[in-house]
Amino acid sequence: MNYYVLFGPPGAGKGTFAKLLVEHKGYYHISTGDLLRKEIAAGTPLGLEAKSLIEKGNLVPDEVVCGMIRSEFGANAGVRGFLLDGFPRTVAQAEALDKILADMGAELTRVVSIYITDDEVRRRIKGRAAVENRADDADDEIITTRIRNYHEKTEPVINYYKAQGKYFEVVADGTIEQNYKKVEVLID
Ligand code: ADP
Repeated sequence: MNYYVLFGPPGAGKGTFAKLLVEHKGYYHISTGDLLRKEIAAGTPLGLEAKSLIEKGNLVPDEVVCGMIRSEFGANAGVRGFLLDGFPRTVAQAEALDKILADMGAELTRVVSIYITDDEVRRRIKGRAAVENRADDADDEIITTRIRNYHEKTEPVINYYKAQGKYFEVVADGTIEQNYKKVEVLID
């Protein structure tokens, strides 16, 4: 069983590449952002807690997303492999993931990181705001908070995986097709 992390700043295209990898490779896609938005849409207590954090551009607590990941693995044991999109986003989540996988007798295969600049992050998120209708995409201040949280809390995850020899980076400076090909090579 293969376990991949698709890593990168908001708007890097993790979700887009994950969908293409599902089509081409048959892996199972887990997006913590999508799972949280489902909880919000369903109006669950967890959704209510997440909504106020997400709409300010802040991360939801590590325990919440780690619990979601654990139950997604449990509920989809028969698949070929997993693509984690938007998780882990803190070093504590990366450590928890190693523990969750170890408990299942498994380990992470590799991390495929998608690099874009902060200016590109802003440009992409603004483009997406019109299409996906996400409140957290529509406001400059919220985008700034998300970029700051990415640098402060998420970027340290890179060194965590570099130390394990599992970190591989793609510079996403081409078309979607060109960038996807680079991602696919690293997954293969
Ligand atoms: P993006 O890639 O644009 O940041 P996501 O759908 O991955 O979009 O995430 C949307 C929001 O959901 C994040 O800004 C954060 O508030 C919350 N979120 C998603 N995944 C996590 C996570 N692993 N840890 C904490 N918060 C998360």
